[in-house]
Amino acid sequence: MQFVDVIGQDALSARLRDGVISGRIAHAQLLEGPKGSGGLALARAYAQYLHCADRTKEDSCGVCMSCLAHKKVQHPDLHWTFPFFKKDGAGKSISEPFQIPWRQLMLDSGYVGLEDWLVKIGADKKQLFISVDEALEVNRKLGLKSFHGGYKVLILWLPETMRIDTANKFLKLIEEPTDKTVIVFVSQNADKLLPTILSRLQRVHVPRLSDSDAAHGISKITGLSNEVALGFAHITEGNVSAAIRMSSSGVETPDLELFSSWMRACWARDGEAFMRGANDFALPGRESQKRFLSYALHMVRQCIIGNYGAENLVRLTQGETAFVSKFRRFIHHKNVVDLSRLLEDAYTDVAGNVNAKVVFFDLSVRVHMLLRKES
Ligand SMILES: [Zn+2]
Repeated sequence: MQFVDVIGQDALSARLRDGVISGRIAHAQLLEGPKGSGGLALARAYAQYLHCADRTKEDSCGVCMSCLAHKKVQHPDLHWTFPFFKKDGAGKSISEPFQIPWRQLMLDSGYVGLEDWLVKIGADKKQLFISVDEALEVNRKLGLKSFHGGYKVLILWLPETMRIDTANKFLKLIEEPTDKTVIVFVSQNADKLLPTILSRLQRVHVPRLSDSDAAHGISKITGLSNEVALGFAHITEGNVSAAIRMSSSGVETPDLELFSSWMRACWARDGEAFMRGANDFALPGRESQKRFLSYALHMVRQCIIGNYGAENLVRLTQGETAFVSKFRRFIHHKNVVDLSRLLEDAYTDVAGNVNAKVVFFDLSVRVHMLLRKES
Protein backbone atom coordinates (compact mmCIF):
# COMPACT_ATOMS: atom_id res chain seq x y z
CA MET A 1 0.00 0.00 0.00
CA GLN A 2 1.38 3.38 -0.98
CA PHE A 3 0.67 6.78 0.50
CA VAL A 4 -1.33 7.58 -2.63
CA ASP A 5 -3.78 4.86 -1.55
CA VAL A 6 -4.29 6.43 1.87
CA ILE A 7 -7.50 8.44 2.08
CA GLY A 8 -6.94 12.05 3.14
CA GLN A 9 -4.39 12.49 5.99
CA ASP A 10 -1.99 14.35 3.70
CA ALA A 11 -0.21 16.26 6.46
CA LEU A 12 0.28 13.14 8.52
CA SER A 13 1.55 11.16 5.53
CA ALA A 14 4.07 13.90 4.78
CA ARG A 15 5.23 13.86 8.40
CA LEU A 16 5.80 10.11 8.32
CA ARG A 17 7.77 10.37 5.07
CA ASP A 18 9.85 13.24 6.40
CA GLY A 19 10.83 11.13 9.37
CA VAL A 20 12.17 8.42 7.06
CA ILE A 21 13.95 10.84 4.74
CA SER A 22 15.67 12.65 7.57
CA GLY A 23 16.58 9.39 9.32
CA ARG A 24 14.49 10.21 12.39
CA ILE A 25 12.80 6.87 12.56
CA ALA A 26 11.11 6.22 15.86
CA HIS A 27 11.64 2.71 17.09
CA ALA A 28 8.13 2.39 18.51
CA GLN A 29 5.17 4.44 17.40
CA LEU A 30 1.49 4.52 18.08
CA LEU A 31 -0.93 5.57 15.37
CA GLU A 32 -4.10 6.33 17.30
CA GLY A 33 -7.39 7.50 15.90
CA PRO A 34 -11.07 6.72 15.58
CA LYS A 35 -12.31 3.69 13.68
CA GLY A 36 -12.00 3.92 9.93
CA SER A 37 -9.74 6.97 9.96
CA GLY A 38 -6.92 5.08 8.28
CA GLY A 39 -4.34 4.17 10.95
CA LEU A 40 -3.79 0.75 9.42
CA ALA A 41 -3.49 2.14 5.91
CA LEU A 42 -0.94 4.69 7.11
CA ALA A 43 1.07 2.02 8.91
CA ARG A 44 1.18 -0.07 5.76
CA ALA A 45 2.18 2.83 3.54
CA TYR A 46 4.86 3.74 6.07
CA ALA A 47 6.27 0.19 6.16
CA GLN A 48 6.37 0.02 2.37
CA TYR A 49 8.04 3.42 2.23
CA LEU A 50 10.68 2.29 4.74
CA HIS A 51 11.47 -0.79 2.68
CA CYS A 52 11.27 0.79 -0.78
CA ALA A 53 14.53 0.74 -2.73
CA ASP A 54 13.61 3.73 -4.85
CA ARG A 55 11.43 6.03 -2.78
CA THR A 56 10.89 9.68 -3.62
CA LYS A 57 9.89 12.52 -1.35
CA GLU A 58 6.26 11.85 -2.28
CA ASP A 59 5.89 8.09 -2.08
CA SER A 60 7.35 4.61 -2.41
CA CYS A 61 8.07 3.66 -6.04
CA GLY A 62 5.47 0.91 -6.25
CA VAL A 63 7.56 -1.19 -8.66
CA CYS A 64 10.76 -2.30 -6.91
CA MET A 65 11.01 -5.88 -5.60
CA SER A 66 10.22 -4.68 -2.13
CA CYS A 67 7.16 -2.70 -3.19
CA LEU A 68 5.88 -5.65 -5.20
CA ALA A 69 6.24 -7.88 -2.15
CA HIS A 70 4.32 -5.33 -0.09
CA LYS A 71 1.63 -5.18 -2.73
CA LYS A 72 1.12 -8.93 -2.41
CA VAL A 73 1.27 -8.59 1.39
CA GLN A 74 4.24 -10.96 1.37
CA HIS A 75 7.21 -8.87 2.41
CA PRO A 76 9.32 -11.10 4.68
CA ASP A 77 10.42 -8.19 6.88
CA LEU A 78 6.90 -6.99 7.59
CA HIS A 79 5.39 -8.84 10.53
CA TRP A 80 1.77 -8.67 11.63
CA THR A 81 0.12 -9.07 14.95
CA PHE A 82 -3.60 -8.66 15.53
CA PRO A 83 -6.27 -9.98 17.89
CA PHE A 84 -7.28 -13.61 17.39
CA PHE A 85 -8.72 -16.49 19.38
CA LYS A 86 -7.23 -19.81 20.40
CA LYS A 87 -8.31 -22.57 18.06
CA ASP A 88 -9.55 -25.79 19.61
CA GLY A 89 -6.73 -28.26 19.93
CA ALA A 90 -4.06 -25.72 19.01
CA GLY A 91 -0.93 -25.94 21.15
CA LYS A 92 0.39 -22.45 21.60
CA SER A 93 -1.93 -19.51 21.33
CA ILE A 94 -0.20 -17.65 18.50
CA SER A 95 -1.41 -15.77 15.43
CA GLU A 96 0.23 -18.16 12.95
CA PRO A 97 -2.99 -20.00 11.92
CA PHE A 98 -4.58 -16.62 11.19
CA GLN A 99 -1.78 -15.07 9.16
CA ILE A 100 -3.16 -16.28 5.82
CA PRO A 101 -6.72 -14.94 6.33
CA TRP A 102 -5.19 -11.73 7.64
CA ARG A 103 -3.09 -11.27 4.53
CA GLN A 104 -6.13 -12.01 2.36
CA LEU A 105 -8.05 -9.32 4.19
CA MET A 106 -5.17 -6.89 3.70
CA LEU A 107 -5.15 -7.71 -0.02
CA ASP A 108 -8.80 -6.67 -0.24
CA SER A 109 -8.41 -3.30 1.46
CA GLY A 110 -6.38 -1.24 3.85
CA TYR A 111 -9.64 -0.15 5.45
CA VAL A 112 -10.97 -2.89 7.66
CA GLY A 113 -12.65 -2.94 11.03
CA LEU A 114 -12.82 -5.52 13.75
CA GLU A 115 -16.24 -6.52 12.35
CA ASP A 116 -14.63 -7.50 9.03
CA TRP A 117 -11.96 -9.48 10.82
CA LEU A 118 -14.52 -11.34 12.97
CA VAL A 119 -16.40 -12.37 9.85
CA LYS A 120 -13.22 -13.33 7.99
CA ILE A 121 -12.10 -15.80 10.67
CA GLY A 122 -15.59 -16.94 11.65
CA ALA A 123 -15.05 -15.75 15.21
CA ASP A 124 -18.69 -14.79 15.70
CA LYS A 125 -19.04 -14.09 19.41
CA LYS A 126 -15.57 -15.22 20.47
CA GLN A 127 -13.50 -12.75 22.40
CA LEU A 128 -10.39 -11.82 20.43
CA PHE A 129 -7.12 -10.92 22.13
CA ILE A 130 -3.36 -10.85 21.71
CA SER A 131 -1.78 -13.56 23.85
CA VAL A 132 1.40 -13.79 25.89
CA ASP A 133 2.59 -16.57 23.58
CA GLU A 134 2.15 -14.21 20.65
CA ALA A 135 4.27 -11.57 22.35
CA LEU A 136 7.02 -14.15 22.92
CA GLU A 137 6.75 -15.27 19.30
CA VAL A 138 7.06 -11.68 18.07
CA ASN A 139 10.10 -11.25 20.31
CA ARG A 140 11.67 -14.29 18.70
CA LYS A 141 10.87 -13.20 15.14
CA LEU A 142 12.17 -9.69 15.60
CA GLY A 143 15.34 -11.11 17.14
CA LEU A 144 16.19 -12.79 13.83
CA LYS A 145 18.14 -11.06 11.11
CA SER A 146 16.11 -9.18 8.55
CA PHE A 147 15.76 -10.91 5.18
CA HIS A 148 16.76 -7.99 3.05
CA GLY A 149 19.12 -6.30 5.48
CA GLY A 150 16.80 -3.34 6.06
CA TYR A 151 14.28 -2.63 8.77
CA LYS A 152 12.15 -5.29 10.36
CA VAL A 153 8.71 -3.78 10.81
CA LEU A 154 5.99 -5.02 13.11
CA ILE A 155 2.49 -3.68 12.61
CA LEU A 156 0.43 -4.49 15.67
CA TRP A 157 -3.25 -3.85 15.13
CA LEU A 158 -5.47 -3.09 18.11
CA PRO A 159 -2.96 -3.28 20.98
CA GLU A 160 -5.89 -2.45 23.27
CA THR A 161 -6.89 -6.12 23.08
CA MET A 162 -3.71 -7.13 24.93
CA ARG A 163 -3.99 -8.24 28.53
CA ILE A 164 -1.61 -6.88 31.14
CA ASP A 165 0.73 -9.87 31.04
CA THR A 166 0.98 -9.61 27.26
CA ALA A 167 1.52 -5.88 27.43
CA ASN A 168 4.41 -6.40 29.83
CA LYS A 169 6.12 -8.71 27.36
CA PHE A 170 5.77 -6.09 24.63
CA LEU A 171 7.06 -3.50 27.03
CA LYS A 172 10.32 -5.43 27.20
CA LEU A 173 10.52 -5.42 23.41
CA ILE A 174 9.95 -1.67 23.32
CA GLU A 175 12.47 -0.96 26.05
CA GLU A 176 15.16 -3.27 24.74
CA PRO A 177 14.80 -2.98 20.98
CA THR A 178 16.43 -5.49 18.71
CA ASP A 179 18.56 -4.11 15.94
CA LYS A 180 16.85 -2.17 13.11
CA THR A 181 13.34 -2.80 14.30
CA VAL A 182 10.34 -0.53 13.89
CA ILE A 183 7.17 -1.26 15.81
CA VAL A 184 3.96 0.44 14.78
CA PHE A 185 0.94 0.07 17.05
CA VAL A 186 -2.37 0.95 15.43
CA SER A 187 -5.04 1.68 17.98
CA GLN A 188 -8.67 2.79 17.98
CA ASN A 189 -8.79 3.09 21.73
CA ALA A 190 -5.41 4.12 23.09
CA ASP A 191 -6.90 5.02 26.49
CA LYS A 192 -7.05 1.31 27.18
CA LEU A 193 -3.28 0.87 26.86
CA LEU A 194 -1.09 0.70 29.93
CA PRO A 195 0.47 4.05 30.84
CA THR A 196 3.88 2.35 30.98
CA ILE A 197 3.47 1.36 27.32
CA LEU A 198 2.01 4.67 26.23
CA SER A 199 4.85 6.63 27.75
CA ARG A 200 7.38 4.73 25.69
CA LEU A 201 5.68 5.14 22.33
CA GLN A 202 5.90 8.06 19.98
CA ARG A 203 2.24 8.94 19.77
CA VAL A 204 0.80 10.05 16.47
CA HIS A 205 -2.79 11.20 16.38
CA VAL A 206 -4.73 10.11 13.28
CA PRO A 207 -7.64 12.55 12.99
CA ARG A 208 -11.14 11.60 11.95
CA LEU A 209 -11.56 12.04 8.20
CA SER A 210 -13.67 14.90 6.95
CA ASP A 211 -16.87 13.69 5.30
CA SER A 212 -15.70 14.89 1.91
CA ASP A 213 -12.32 13.14 2.19
CA ALA A 214 -14.02 9.98 3.40
CA ALA A 215 -16.57 10.17 0.56
CA HIS A 216 -13.83 10.60 -2.00
CA GLY A 217 -12.07 7.51 -0.68
CA ILE A 218 -15.25 5.46 -0.39
CA SER A 219 -16.16 6.37 -3.94
CA LYS A 220 -12.69 5.36 -5.17
CA ILE A 221 -12.76 2.01 -3.37
CA THR A 222 -16.38 1.01 -4.02
CA GLY A 223 -17.08 2.77 -7.33
CA LEU A 224 -20.17 4.47 -5.87
CA SER A 225 -21.06 7.98 -7.00
CA ASN A 226 -19.73 10.77 -4.83
CA GLU A 227 -23.25 11.75 -3.74
CA VAL A 228 -24.04 8.25 -2.48
CA ALA A 229 -20.57 7.89 -0.96
CA LEU A 230 -21.16 11.16 0.87
CA GLY A 231 -24.36 9.72 2.34
CA PHE A 232 -22.37 6.79 3.74
CA ALA A 233 -19.67 9.13 5.01
CA HIS A 234 -22.30 11.20 6.87
CA ILE A 235 -23.91 8.25 8.57
CA THR A 236 -20.66 6.59 9.60
CA GLU A 237 -19.12 9.90 10.64
CA GLY A 238 -16.19 9.46 8.30
CA ASN A 239 -15.50 5.82 9.20
CA VAL A 240 -14.37 4.45 5.85
CA SER A 241 -14.32 0.77 6.80
CA ALA A 242 -17.87 0.96 8.20
CA ALA A 243 -19.01 2.79 5.07
CA ILE A 244 -17.52 0.11 2.82
CA ARG A 245 -19.26 -2.56 4.87
CA MET A 246 -22.55 -0.74 4.64
CA SER A 247 -22.27 -0.08 0.95
CA SER A 248 -21.55 -3.74 0.23
CA SER A 249 -24.99 -4.55 1.61
CA GLY A 250 -26.26 -3.04 -1.64
CA VAL A 251 -28.48 -0.31 -0.24
CA GLU A 252 -28.13 2.95 -2.13
CA THR A 253 -29.55 5.46 0.32
CA PRO A 254 -29.33 3.37 3.43
CA ASP A 255 -32.66 2.80 5.05
CA LEU A 256 -34.24 6.17 4.21
CA GLU A 257 -37.35 4.53 2.82
CA LEU A 258 -37.76 2.26 5.82
CA PHE A 259 -37.10 5.12 8.20
CA SER A 260 -39.56 7.54 6.60
CA SER A 261 -42.37 5.00 6.38
CA TRP A 262 -41.68 3.97 9.96
CA MET A 263 -41.88 7.57 11.17
CA ARG A 264 -45.20 8.00 9.35
CA ALA A 265 -46.52 4.85 11.01
CA CYS A 266 -45.29 6.05 14.41
CA TRP A 267 -47.01 9.40 13.98
CA ALA A 268 -50.28 7.74 13.04
CA ARG A 269 -49.92 4.93 15.60
CA ASP A 270 -50.60 2.53 12.77
CA GLY A 271 -50.53 -0.88 14.48
CA GLU A 272 -50.58 -2.85 11.25
CA ALA A 273 -47.66 -0.87 9.93
CA PHE A 274 -45.83 -1.50 13.22
CA MET A 275 -46.22 -5.24 12.66
CA ARG A 276 -45.08 -5.02 9.05
CA GLY A 277 -42.20 -2.80 10.11
CA ALA A 278 -41.23 -5.22 12.88
CA ASN A 279 -41.11 -8.05 10.33
CA ASP A 280 -39.08 -5.98 7.86
CA PHE A 281 -36.80 -4.93 10.65
CA ALA A 282 -36.22 -8.44 11.97
CA LEU A 283 -35.65 -10.13 8.64
CA PRO A 284 -32.17 -9.06 7.50
CA GLY A 285 -30.32 -9.92 10.71
CA ARG A 286 -28.61 -8.25 13.58
CA GLU A 287 -26.05 -6.16 11.69
CA SER A 288 -28.73 -4.55 9.52
CA GLN A 289 -30.86 -3.89 12.58
CA LYS A 290 -28.00 -2.14 14.32
CA ARG A 291 -27.27 -0.17 11.19
CA PHE A 292 -30.89 0.92 10.88
CA LEU A 293 -31.01 2.09 14.48
CA SER A 294 -27.76 4.04 14.02
CA TYR A 295 -29.27 5.57 10.95
CA ALA A 296 -32.46 6.54 12.81
CA LEU A 297 -30.36 8.18 15.50
CA HIS A 298 -28.37 10.04 12.87
CA MET A 299 -31.57 11.34 11.26
CA VAL A 300 -33.03 12.48 14.58
CA ARG A 301 -29.81 14.34 15.34
CA GLN A 302 -29.80 15.96 11.93
CA CYS A 303 -33.35 17.21 12.51
CA ILE A 304 -32.41 18.85 15.77
CA ILE A 305 -29.24 20.40 14.39
CA GLY A 306 -31.31 21.89 11.56
CA ASN A 307 -33.93 23.12 14.04
CA TYR A 308 -31.32 24.93 16.06
CA GLY A 309 -30.32 26.86 12.99
CA ALA A 310 -26.98 25.18 12.44
CA GLU A 311 -27.87 24.44 8.82
CA ASN A 312 -24.22 24.32 7.83
CA LEU A 313 -23.69 21.34 10.15
CA VAL A 314 -26.50 19.29 8.66
CA ARG A 315 -25.15 16.31 6.77
CA LEU A 316 -27.76 14.83 4.49
CA THR A 317 -28.15 13.57 0.95
CA GLN A 318 -30.71 15.14 -1.39
CA GLY A 319 -33.37 12.52 -0.69
CA GLU A 320 -32.86 12.86 3.05
CA THR A 321 -33.03 16.65 2.91
CA ALA A 322 -36.43 16.45 1.23
CA PHE A 323 -37.72 14.14 3.93
CA VAL A 324 -36.18 16.01 6.84
CA SER A 325 -37.52 19.38 5.68
CA LYS A 326 -41.03 18.07 6.41
CA PHE A 327 -40.22 15.82 9.32
CA ARG A 328 -38.01 17.99 11.48
CA ARG A 329 -40.84 20.02 13.03
CA PHE A 330 -41.78 16.87 14.97
CA ILE A 331 -38.37 16.75 16.66
CA HIS A 332 -37.79 19.39 19.32
CA HIS A 333 -36.17 20.05 22.67
CA LYS A 334 -38.96 18.32 24.61
CA ASN A 335 -38.57 14.94 22.91
CA VAL A 336 -35.13 14.73 21.36
CA VAL A 337 -33.28 13.51 24.45
CA ASP A 338 -35.79 10.74 25.13
CA LEU A 339 -35.95 9.78 21.48
CA SER A 340 -32.18 9.47 21.27
CA ARG A 341 -32.06 7.42 24.45
CA LEU A 342 -34.80 5.08 23.17
CA LEU A 343 -32.89 4.46 19.96
CA GLU A 344 -29.65 3.88 21.83
CA ASP A 345 -31.34 1.46 24.22
CA ALA A 346 -32.89 -0.41 21.30
CA TYR A 347 -29.44 -0.64 19.74
CA THR A 348 -28.05 -2.16 22.94
CA ASP A 349 -30.95 -4.61 23.11
CA VAL A 350 -30.48 -5.74 19.53
CA ALA A 351 -26.72 -6.07 20.02
CA GLY A 352 -27.48 -8.14 23.12
CA ASN A 353 -29.68 -10.50 21.09
CA VAL A 354 -33.06 -9.45 22.46
CA ASN A 355 -35.87 -10.50 20.10
CA ALA A 356 -35.80 -7.95 17.27
CA LYS A 357 -39.55 -7.91 16.60
CA VAL A 358 -40.31 -7.21 20.24
CA VAL A 359 -37.70 -4.45 20.37
CA PHE A 360 -39.02 -2.79 17.23
CA PHE A 361 -42.69 -2.99 18.19
CA ASP A 362 -42.07 -1.64 21.66
CA LEU A 363 -39.86 1.10 20.25
CA SER A 364 -42.55 2.10 17.74
CA VAL A 365 -45.16 2.62 20.46
CA ARG A 366 -42.80 4.72 22.54
CA VAL A 367 -41.66 6.77 19.55
CA HIS A 368 -45.32 7.47 18.77
CA MET A 369 -45.83 8.96 22.24
CA LEU A 370 -42.73 11.12 21.96
CA LEU A 371 -43.60 12.39 18.48
CA ARG A 372 -47.01 13.45 19.76
CA LYS A 373 -45.49 15.43 22.60
CA GLU A 374 -46.19 19.17 22.30
CA SER A 375 -43.12 21.23 21.53
ZN1 LIG B 1 9.70 0.61 -4.17
